[in-house]
Amino acid sequence: MNILVTGGAGYIGSHTCVALLEAGHSVIIADNLCNSKAENVKKIIKIAGQEITFYEIDVTDSQAIEALFKNYKIDGVIHFAGLKAVGESVEKPLSYYYNNIVSTMVLAKACEKYNVNKLVFSSSATVYGDNTVPFVETMNLLPTTNPYGETKAMSERILTDIAKANPAFSVSLLRYFNPVGAHESGLLGEAPNGVPNNLMPFVTQVAKGKLDKLRVFGNDYPTVDGTGVRDYIHVMDLAEGHVAALNNLTKGVHIYNLGTGQGTSVLELVHAFEEANDIEVPYEFIERRPGDIASCYADASKAERELGWTAKRDIVAMCRDAWRFEKKLKDLVETD
Ligand code: NAD
Ligand code: UDP
Repeated sequence: MNILVTGGAGYIGSHTCVALLEAGHSVIIADNLCNSKAENVKKIIKIAGQEITFYEIDVTDSQAIEALFKNYKIDGVIHFAGLKAVGESVEKPLSYYYNNIVSTMVLAKACEKYNVNKLVFSSSATVYGDNTVPFVETMNLLPTTNPYGETKAMSERILTDIAKANPAFSVSLLRYFNPVGAHESGLLGEAPNGVPNNLMPFVTQVAKGKLDKLRVFGNDYPTVDGTGVRDYIHVMDLAEGHVAALNNLTKGVHIYNLGTGQGTSVLELVHAFEEANDIEVPYEFIERRPGDIASCYADASKAERELGWTAKRDIVAMCRDAWRFEKKLKDLVETD
């Protein structure tokens, strides 16, 4: 299939483009590069050994998106493009609502007009709020604590209503747990701007000596060792989950958790990283981060049952690949 990948130059999108190409699909990327670099497109081409088409386009720009749909025969869309920093979404709610909601509507409208009936959407486990773990797709969604989470819940509702009104439309809402790690080549990975908000990039930057130590947010949660528990998933497993969702897409709305089903605490992840890479990660405990929940992990059985997909890479592979990518970034900086 000819797949339009919005946000395809970003972290998850770039890995998914590799998986799509390896599965025999063609890829057109639309990305405005607001949180990624064009060189990621070259890296995708290098890894997969295949050409792709890239447009530097804002997905909220309906004319630019319509021009794409007019000029290419698009068989399906994977919509990654969006702003994703939780803290920033509290400070700049309008940017988040505008970018994340308008982009979804512009795409859905173009799909309707040009009769493109397959859409896969990047949602998040954050839509479960503080439900009881493990999170199951049938649970009622609870309010999230920030505008970012609300944009995911709203986009899910918009796409669900569109599919209800148009029986030809097929939508897959993929709720990601905590994507970490990097492509095994070390060429693609997560390179956040500024000080990372997320645990794994923070850990790799501490290991590299770029940051002095990890601040662990709270050690008094009702978890195995008092630190927060999450379901970390290797980004290549997540990427392959998108290919499975696309290949198995049938009419109507389908919701899937993409996680491993395993909870890992902050300290367990730090120790796994130290062991996998034979490197120390200094840390200290500080107070809880506002808005954090104690535990978040998936019931991942629906994706296995219906898509035949499960995560294959373990926490050691996640830590090893994340560190390989970080080290390569360091090499690049040093040789500049
Ligand atoms: P990312 O920032 O690396 O990638 C998003 C890409 O979208 C970037 O390349 C950015 O330049 C582009 N983009 C943003 N707004 C755009 C617009 N209006 N038009 C065109 N391009 C635009 O983020 P990611 O981690 O790869 O996340 C991809 C998607 O998955 C996002 O929708 C995110 O909310 C969702 N998600 C991410 C996580 C996570 O932990 N990384 C978890 C759950 C859901
Ligand atoms: N965390 C931490 N220190 C950090 C970043 C994160 O202790 O510098 C913890 C956080 O409290 C949570 C887990 O690591 O328990 C995962 O956080 P992340 O921000 O990566 O993902 P999310 O909160 O979105 O699940």
